[in-house]
Amino acid sequence: AAVSKQDVAITVALGDGIGPEITRATLRMLEAAGARIAPEFIDIGEQVYLAGHSAGIQPDAWDSLRRTKVFLKGPVTTPSGAGYKSLNVTIRKTLGLYANVRPCISYAPFVATQSPNMNVVIVRENEEDLYAGIEHRQTDEVYQCLKLISRPGCERIIRYAFEYARSHGRKKVTCMVKDNIMKMTDGLFYRVFQEIGAEYPEIMQDRYIIDIGSARLATRPEQFDVVVTTNLYGDIISDIAAEVSGSIGLAGSANIGEHVAMFEAIHGSAPDIAGQGIANPSGLLLAAVMMLVHIRQADVAERIHNAWLRTIEDGVLTADVAGNASQAVSTEAFTQAVIARL
Ligand code: ATP
Ligand code: MG
Repeated sequence: AAVSKQDVAITVALGDGIGPEITRATLRMLEAAGARIAPEFIDIGEQVYLAGHSAGIQPDAWDSLRRTKVFLKGPVTTPSGAGYKSLNVTIRKTLGLYANVRPCISYAPFVATQSPNMNVVIVRENEEDLYAGIEHRQTDEVYQCLKLISRPGCERIIRYAFEYARSHGRKKVTCMVKDNIMKMTDGLFYRVFQEIGAEYPEIMQDRYIIDIGSARLATRPEQFDVVVTTNLYGDIISDIAAEVSGSIGLAGSANIGEHVAMFEAIHGSAPDIAGQGIANPSGLLLAAVMMLVHIRQADVAERIHNAWLRTIEDGVLTADVAGNASQAVSTEAFTQAVIARL
């Protein structure tokens, strides 16, 4: 009997801020490209908090995530200073998404950048470090945040980075830490890097202290290939690397766990431009391309990636990357341009 092409169930959240705009645009491009997916929608973010679910996610959404094991997620707003615990952190922790993989690539000369040859993948530890959000009040005037680094956590992320380098033909893995100051926590991370690195002799290895490392990433990113680091440093340097490549709106990410994988843009919900129809959907689209490879639809992934590259090469650019603001196109026009080039 003929084998029918089975649609793969995926869980999709539109998010908030620019989330609904860029997620709907991304789904349209996937559909036009013939992606064999069956989206199940879940609600997350601001509206869900306001409806009384303090985690920012509806309880039955977890059922969908555990069933499909693939999550395409629009950005959600994380309140600063006070308010709800970060939903992004809750999702990563609950689903055990330990590795956050963030390619930041130059598209020069089509997207302006001072670093035309950069092609770096940041592998960010995603569950530990200061991001665990374990904070205490000591006294009225003194607060404490716990930096948690475990050997199993280090081993898992560092092995992931080396395996990623090996399977993607990458030549070097750089470890970024501050182990001259945090000798125990960051010291452990670097020690495990050296131990596991010994099993990958064909891959070049080096270490940067995070302060000069991020400065170098900003000025000479072409010197880096794969960078592995702890959670908070990884958060900071991936925004730097994406901006250096042209725009924070360009980079997508894969959040990998043992059972579930989540794909999202590296940027946030950009409330300052929400509802204006001008956001760049590229970060989420490139995350969706990674998702398609993950669910073994590399053919569709390649079709979309090529159409997207062609769109950029033809100078169809959203405001964040357009050199000349008066020539910037809307999210909608960009989406149609990609679809026309599939
Ligand atoms: P988070 O804490 O969730 O990472 P953030 O505080 O880092 O959020 P973002 O929401 O990522 O902030 O926005 C940072 C800046 O980048 C804002 O000025 C925003 O408008 C811009 N920006 C983010 N994403 C896009 C996009 N897709 N297209 C255009 N501009 C964007
Ligand atoms: Mg950010």
